[in-house]
Amino acid sequence: MSGTAQIGVTGLAVMGRNLARNFARNGFTVAVHNRTAAKTRALVEEFGDEGTFVPAESAEEFVAALERPRRLVIMVKAGDPTDAVIEEFAPLLEEGDVIIDGGNAHFADTRRREKDLRERGIHFVGTGISGGEEGALHGPSIMPGGSAESYATLGPMLEKIAAKAPDGTPTVAHMGPDGAGHFVKMVHNGIEYADMQLIAEAYHLLRSVAGYSPAQIAETFRTWNTGRLDSYLIEITAEVLAHTDADTGKPFVDVVTDQAEQKGTGRWTVQIALDLGVPVSGIAEAVFARSLSGHADLRAASRGLPGPTPRPLSDEEASRFADQVEQALYASKIVSYTQGFHQIQAGSDAYDWNIDLGSVAAIWRAGCIIRAAFLDRIRAAYDTQRDLPSLLSDKEFASEIGSAQDDWRDVVATAAHQGVPTPGFSAALAYYDALRADRLPAALTQAQRDFFGAHTYRRVDREGSFHTLWGGDR
Ligand code: NAP
Repeated sequence: MSGTAQIGVTGLAVMGRNLARNFARNGFTVAVHNRTAAKTRALVEEFGDEGTFVPAESAEEFVAALERPRRLVIMVKAGDPTDAVIEEFAPLLEEGDVIIDGGNAHFADTRRREKDLRERGIHFVGTGISGGEEGALHGPSIMPGGSAESYATLGPMLEKIAAKAPDGTPTVAHMGPDGAGHFVKMVHNGIEYADMQLIAEAYHLLRSVAGYSPAQIAETFRTWNTGRLDSYLIEITAEVLAHTDADTGKPFVDVVTDQAEQKGTGRWTVQIALDLGVPVSGIAEAVFARSLSGHADLRAASRGLPGPTPRPLSDEEASRFADQVEQALYASKIVSYTQGFHQIQAGSDAYDWNIDLGSVAAIWRAGCIIRAAFLDRIRAAYDTQRDLPSLLSDKEFASEIGSAQDDWRDVVATAAHQGVPTPGFSAALAYYDALRADRLPAALTQAQRDFFGAHTYRRVDREGSFHTLWGGDR
């Protein structure tokens, strides 16, 4: 038996509820279901006039409400709950039906689930969805994986509910088979961590070195947001910094405990990068910076350690320094994206996903948390140069980073002199310099490895693998 709903959403917390409303607002008949049925009833009561919802209280009712092939979106807590929900619904489905997991699943879980369901004749589409609660309702950036066949039936629907880039194209594209979509979403979140860390460092420098107030920094960010740094995260940073705490009258940022938490996608990005051997130092530093901030006892015990005496800047120096920080932020951001896209390429190679990097940049232009004007230029770089070895190999980005480098170096040096931690800016610069270097001290590292572990080395002047009989009792 089949019903009339073109799509179903199960899991009606903030994300699922808004996604269901987005589908309904776009003219689709949406079956809705939640483990706790009160949420299903509440959705229909509150938003029933936005479109056509078919509420279902049981799994059987939900499945029966869907037209064939059934398309069923799961928006529940990632991990075991997702497996539980799949096992609840899969036995009720038929060959050719499509389960879409829009939660923040680990791509390895998605690969496992996809394989298992494929063997049972069901398409499983692990889908990254970014944009938070607001994005889910008004248009997220959507990163589906799974089979090309499932995308053919699903794509047109997702295009309707996705955000639209400035050129009008929907921010959704098939990323590749099985776990490709969740992998891309994971790296998206990793880049988000790096972006946020770099912005935090820029704020810290403007506050501690330039001596700006949060309100002045908000103004500086607003100005930056009209230029090449134009992005959602810079925009909201200006709003946060301009905000005053109603209870105390203090800048809001000063009443927030300085310990950043994390849910895990940044950590996953770094763990997978380690497995793939991809240097995502910017993302790693961002994850570690959050961890360090949370070690309150360690920080309290270290507070008395000696540091440099801060040197206040004149107004003119502060203004010049702020301009330099903009250069450092932009250059470091280019490095973060270079590293993130490298990781996507490496994942794509390792799992045969054939991910199109230009299309990744294209669907991040709107709807998602890292949306930024410069993603359109990243899209253009990859669209016009299919074999670009790295974003830094693109002439335009290389030239911009070249123009920024003197200021970038000054900022990192000033931060070190003034005792302001800038792990993101510093790691980005070190990565840039390491890539540029004719020779790296890795030669010495390899020689050491041969010395203590007979790990052998290759020579610059001959083919083959060599081991030296080092002296001493070893
Ligand atoms: P959530 O708090 O992660 O999950 C709550 C939902 O999961 C509720 O509908 C809950 O049902 C259901 N659930 C939990 N355990 C279950 C189980 N064992 N069986 C059946 N249902 C179960 O909700 P969310 O914040 O809306 O996020 C949904 C998914 O989207 C998550 O995977 C999240 O990581 C991802 N995501 C979230 C955001 C965001 O900004 N929040 C952004 C992108 C992606 P009950 O009502 O019955 O408890």
